[in-house]
Amino acid sequence: MPEKKEVCGVAGCGQDAVRSVALDKAKDILTGKSLTADFRRVHLCREHYRTFRKATKKDRELERLGW
Ligand SMILES: [Zn+2]
Repeated sequence: MPEKKEVCGVAGCGQDAVRSVALDKAKDILTGKSLTADFRRVHLCREHYRTFRKATKKDRELERLGW
């Protein structure tokens, strides 16, 4: 059960967050954006999470190619 409503940690976004991700990873992917972190986690809205997931998926595909 969600305790409280979180908002996206990307500066200027302000959308409701759907997921939280590790700050270090988010910094790698959302470069040039100012991020608000909560205990080394960044909350992301649907739109920013999609961007994040697309980038991490690319990593995973590269790993698979390396097999
Ligand atoms: Zn956002």
